[in-house]
Amino acid sequence: MLQDDVPGLREFLSAYPLMALRPSNNGMLTLKGRFDFSASHPERGNISGSFFLKINVPRTFPRDLPAVFETGKQIPKDVDYHVNPANGSLCLGSPLKILLTVSQEPTLMGFAQKLLVPYLYAVSHKLRNGGRFVFDELDHGSPGLLDDYSELFGLDRTKVCSVLKLLGMKKRLANKHMCPCGCERRLGKCRFNRKVAAFRPLASRAWYKKQCGLLLNLIAVERKRDASSSRRWN
Ligand SMILES: [Zn+2]
Repeated sequence: MLQDDVPGLREFLSAYPLMALRPSNNGMLTLKGRFDFSASHPERGNISGSFFLKINVPRTFPRDLPAVFETGKQIPKDVDYHVNPANGSLCLGSPLKILLTVSQEPTLMGFAQKLLVPYLYAVSHKLRNGGRFVFDELDHGSPGLLDDYSELFGLDRTKVCSVLKLLGMKKRLANKHMCPCGCERRLGKCRFNRKVAAFRPLASRAWYKKQCGLLLNLIAVERKRDASSSRRWN
């Protein structure tokens, strides 16, 4: 594939000169090498670091997102470090937050600077000092996702699934449903529909439907786990 197909690739390669394109047979663009970064946090100060990374960029980026793997064995393969237990990829945020961030700067440089560098800063900080992630710490599982989505939508946690459901419907149909903001009107009659509309271009209706299902599943699994652990203690 042509390098120009991926927006921001040239800038990425010149900003991170030890990362290089590698032949790849999976239909993706693969970048591999040492990723040197430097970032600062208002209270935690400046951190510079290097990680060996492999980044698989789909041809359809920015519509579909890159998967990042750390290959230098510096980051423990552990959910506490936000490493996905299923495939070892780095978890750079909740799916919707990642889509939103990428939509604001849909280039590989935007992805690197707004998602990857903050993640690596947080990992480095945790490796050096212990404690929690310093950037946008999300709890694992549904509470973290719920908090994150509730912040993105500006609504209570209990309304998150309703918004995802509305985003899974065609606009005209969604507008006939009750608005989740609590205004007791239909979505089409409330200003909240602008908020919903702003999320529509980020992903397909099917994607939102799937997110809603995943979230409900996580909530059910956690309820079951909480119930069985309280039984054990009672
Ligand atoms: Zn409303």
